[in-house]
Amino acid sequence: MTRTVYLNGAYLPEAEAKVSIFDRGFLMADGVYEVTSVLDGKLIDFGGHCVRLARSLSELEMQNPHSDAEWLAIHRELVAVNAIEDGMVYLQVTRGNPGDRDFAYPSDDVTPTVVLFTQAKPGLADNPAAKVGIKVISIPDIRWGRRDIKTVQLLYPSMGKMAAKKAGVDDSWFVEDGVVTEGTSNNAYIVKGNKIITRQLSSDILHGITRAAVLRFAVEAQMEVEERAFSIDEAQAADEAFITSASAFVMPVVEIDGAAVGAGKPGHVVARLREIYLDEMRKAAV
Ligand code: PMP
Repeated sequence: MTRTVYLNGAYLPEAEAKVSIFDRGFLMADGVYEVTSVLDGKLIDFGGHCVRLARSLSELEMQNPHSDAEWLAIHRELVAVNAIEDGMVYLQVTRGNPGDRDFAYPSDDVTPTVVLFTQAKPGLADNPAAKVGIKVISIPDIRWGRRDIKTVQLLYPSMGKMAAKKAGVDDSWFVEDGVVTEGTSNNAYIVKGNKIITRQLSSDILHGITRAAVLRFAVEAQMEVEERAFSIDEAQAADEAFITSASAFVMPVVEIDGAAVGAGKPGHVVARLREIYLDEMRKAAV
């Protein structure tokens, strides 16, 4: 079955969806994106993604081409026509194609390019990695300084994933000024006793939708939350470590730069948080 994708108002077979070579997304990485998970055919934390999308667009002085209700309708249509039970919807808005390549933004009346597509991931919530945990290495964070904007310029995170792959592990954590910023495509946490420690929000990290939800659930479950930076040394000596993202949910980290974290297997705090997160988010899914 060929996949149906969305391009600028039309639902098309993927092979027919074409974008101009002058699109600023292609030439300049001038665009933003969101990834929303789908479980049992429903969208997880959709409202959170809409709020962040609006903020990313506004920080780049781009108009939001759709209302939240319109975005929801497009997402739902793609999930339905592609019969997605478990998987994700990828959304991207770029500044479009005014014609000639120019560093300056084109005038406001240029129509943005809007692309959405689905990816099926059967059994997404039962990812076996959640049972055994993942391993990470640390690498320097040399990304730009506006990591709070969810742009499509993902080359360095891709290099970070490749560095992990070459090292025989699952992912990389970025380190800047001696402390962890975040993972290549996720937020990073450690656990000490009943306390969850994760870096405070700023333009140094992406403001994870999953992060916000998990911290809220942690407080509701009487866990302590401390928002501050931590070093790799501190993480290696922690009781537990984990990451969060819209597609990995809550995922234990059991090894950092070759050193086992805690017992070297997923701990009970991360297991509990994952369970609460999935339960609550399934209930609130649209
Ligand atoms: N940080 C980075 C750099 C990311 O790419 C992501 C994934 N979008 C996250 C954190 C986690 O954000 P979210 O929970 O909203 O998926």
